[in-house]
Amino acid sequence: MYDLIIIGGGPAGLTAGMYAARSKLNVVMLEKMMPGGNVSITAEVENYPGIPNIGGPDLVMQMEKQARDFGLEIRSEEVLSIEVGAGTNGHSIKSDTNEYKTKSVLIASGSSPRRIGCQGEDEHIGRGVSYCATCDGAFFREKHIAVVGGGDSAVEEGLYLTKFAKRVTIIHRRDRLRADKIIQEKAIKHPKIDFIWDSVIEGIEGTPVVNNIKIKNLKSSEVTDFKVDGVFVFVGYIPGTDYVPGIVNKDEGGYIITDLEMRTNIPGIFAAGDIIAKKQRQIVTACGDAATAIKTIEHYNEWYYEDEQYL
Ligand SMILES: Cc1cc2nc3c(=O)[nH]c(=O)nc-3n(C[C@H](O)[C@H](O)[C@H](O)COP(=O)(O)OP(=O)(O)OC[C@H]3O[C@@H](n4cnc5c(N)ncnc54)[C@H](O)[C@@H]3O)c2cc1C
Repeated sequence: MYDLIIIGGGPAGLTAGMYAARSKLNVVMLEKMMPGGNVSITAEVENYPGIPNIGGPDLVMQMEKQARDFGLEIRSEEVLSIEVGAGTNGHSIKSDTNEYKTKSVLIASGSSPRRIGCQGEDEHIGRGVSYCATCDGAFFREKHIAVVGGGDSAVEEGLYLTKFAKRVTIIHRRDRLRADKIIQEKAIKHPKIDFIWDSVIEGIEGTPVVNNIKIKNLKSSEVTDFKVDGVFVFVGYIPGTDYVPGIVNKDEGGYIITDLEMRTNIPGIFAAGDIIAKKQRQIVTACGDAATAIKTIEHYNEWYYEDEQYL
């Protein structure tokens, strides 16, 4: 029986892994892809305290190394289900290759990009439609790109895409951006960036690659053709909770509800990072949640499994 199984190897999982391994818990992390999570697809991080500017992949590589140096074991497995155990039997976790028993589980499986849901989107993924500027921006040298969204990610990634594209058009459903003021100012002043307000994409066209989008103005309902070579979508995220049992409380968006100590409503199941219901989804908050969770988990394991009065 493990003391702790961590699901997900983004900043939350890696921080939790580092704290848990350093505290000598019998811990394993299960990550379905490469460790790093969304930070590995972030070009530049400028707001991680103490490091004024670093590439996302470099930052998470350092986090992974630090956790491994303390003895964290990371396995490349996708978690498919969690079965809630009774009494001191522990919880069961099934991955695509193994089954585990553990006293505690930390759910740190983050979130994945939300799609627009318009016609032609799915068929053009990898053929001009992308959700990751760092991964795909370089394919659009001297091209015209449409960026969908008005929040921090859309504007930051739109700015990043100007390194490659000859023109970036930000399409937003409202008449003003939601992004931080400082980034907004950079985008508005940028000579390669223009905006289409109050509008949504209704269709993405081109065979085999994107060459046209249909844009609907939400005020006039007019639909117009707009020639572009690519569409980058940044309209939010969907929490990765498919495998999480229904009895774990979630909010209306599907994010897991925890208390301030990262406990869910199920004893022995904890959550941290972007997967939890909260306002600020950032690297530092993910790391902070994870550090808090490990302290809570240590107390829980001692109290629930070792306290003689309880047993
Ligand atoms: C484009 C972009 C730019 C950003 N820029 C910044 C920035 O500049 N500064 C900042 O502070 N934040 C930034 N963020 C936000 C930041 O990346 C997130 O807040 C942070 O990554 C959250 O960490 P996490 O560990 O909770 O989740 P994630 O990073 O989402 O990691 C979750 C991990 O869980 C794994 N996983 C999911 N399901 C399973 C499963 N069933 N089994 C096993 N593994 C699973 C995933 O593969 C993933 O590796 C940015 C995000 C994006 C997308």
